[in-house]
Amino acid sequence: MINRRRFLSGSALASMGLLLSPSLKAETLRKLHFHGIGNNEQTPLVVSTWQHGLAANYAAWEILKKEGSSLDAVEQGVRISEADPKVSSVGYGGNPDRDGNVTLDACIMNKDGDCGSVAFLQNIKHPISVARLVMEKTPHVMLSGKGALQFAIENGFTKEDLLTEKARVRWEKWKIKSKYEPVINIENHDTIGMLAIDNYGDVAGACTTSGLAYKMHGRVGDSPIIGAGMYVDNEVGGAVATGVGELVMKTLGAFLIVELMRNGKTPQQACKEAIKRITDKQKDYKKFQVGYIAINKSGEIGTFSINKGFDYALYQDGENELIESGYFLKF
Ligand code: ASP
Repeated sequence: MINRRRFLSGSALASMGLLLSPSLKAETLRKLHFHGIGNNEQTPLVVSTWQHGLAANYAAWEILKKEGSSLDAVEQGVRISEADPKVSSVGYGGNPDRDGNVTLDACIMNKDGDCGSVAFLQNIKHPISVARLVMEKTPHVMLSGKGALQFAIENGFTKEDLLTEKARVRWEKWKIKSKYEPVINIENHDTIGMLAIDNYGDVAGACTTSGLAYKMHGRVGDSPIIGAGMYVDNEVGGAVATGVGELVMKTLGAFLIVELMRNGKTPQQACKEAIKRITDKQKDYKKFQVGYIAINKSGEIGTFSINKGFDYALYQDGENELIESGYFLKF
């Protein structure tokens, strides 16, 4: 799918003297873009994990098409999944932990390398917006648990019960056997991770989740960990993860992918390498799913997962489509 998309590669841009670099001012980039000299067939773009990423992409696109920032786009985009009770692994309607508590993790990162994160946050529907405020209003990167909740309330967020009746019924059913076993691609892997490039060529990313279904109380996954669940470097691009967070955390997947791209790999090669890092080192990997998405500054996309079944939503060139990712394990 990626192959059929046209793009101006980094080397082509470089030969035209137009490779996006931090030294190019935003206004210059904007002019290049609107004069059709820049990579305007590729950007703006927004890409996100799983099928519910389609609706989230629409919201993000609304911002991007009005020349809004990639940071606003990813925040507004993932809020759609957070508010959707049908999405069972994000925000409101997310599956609870084994004790029946919905606990949320999220992080966000901007073009300047600033980031904010919340972990083990309860009763707040939009953890991504709290994460953004952590980034913008505190000297810290991460707040967790009661402190994150207190900060959210102090900043005008309202406490809500996030356990929907449907999620409660699923949990009651799970309790009959109480077997903690992440099932590949079903129910418990649909964290939304989103990456966007705006009209100015700037990259931002967001990631938000209720984590693995029926996890131990207090468990925090990869999604709020900068560099594990998500990472952006505006000189290079960005990456997001979904799936069993423990495998992502052990290999610091998103940071790894961005560094691999910095060192010359395409987003696709970098995602494959990050999956290989898991499959080389984790003996149980076949039982689990991890999926990565990466973008570089030229608007090239890469995705890869351990198992079949990971898909992602890409809004680019006026089309929003769900695309199946390549994967490691061929049965
Ligand atoms: N990565 C998330 C976690 O481990 C789960 C998911 O992607 O659904 O918390």
